Amino acid sequence: MTIAVTNECNLNCIFCYVNKKKIYKFSFETHKNIIGFIKYYYEKYKIKKLFITWTGGEPLVEFDNIVKLSEEIINFCCINDIRF
Ligand code: SF4
Repeated sequence: MTIAVTNECNLNCIFCYVNKKKIYKFSFETHKNIIGFIKYYYEKYKIKKLFITWTGGEPLVEFDNIVKLSEEIINFCCINDIRF
């Protein structure tokens, strides 16, 4: 699963393809939707492994939100015997 956390970035590479005219950030709604999607996907496909790639912009701009979301996902994986 690839999660684009934000399009914000602390660099300004000349080859950047990210549209930064309108900055999007991680919202509570996004957090809820990602957890909901993982639960739905697990129920439907009974996945045994979950691998997440964080992307952006620069994903670490949203480090605190990544940690919070990761904790919830890891907890869900532990309860359901999914390798994270
Ligand atoms: S998003 Fe990537 S390519 Fe764009 S400025 Fe940031 S580091 Fe450079």
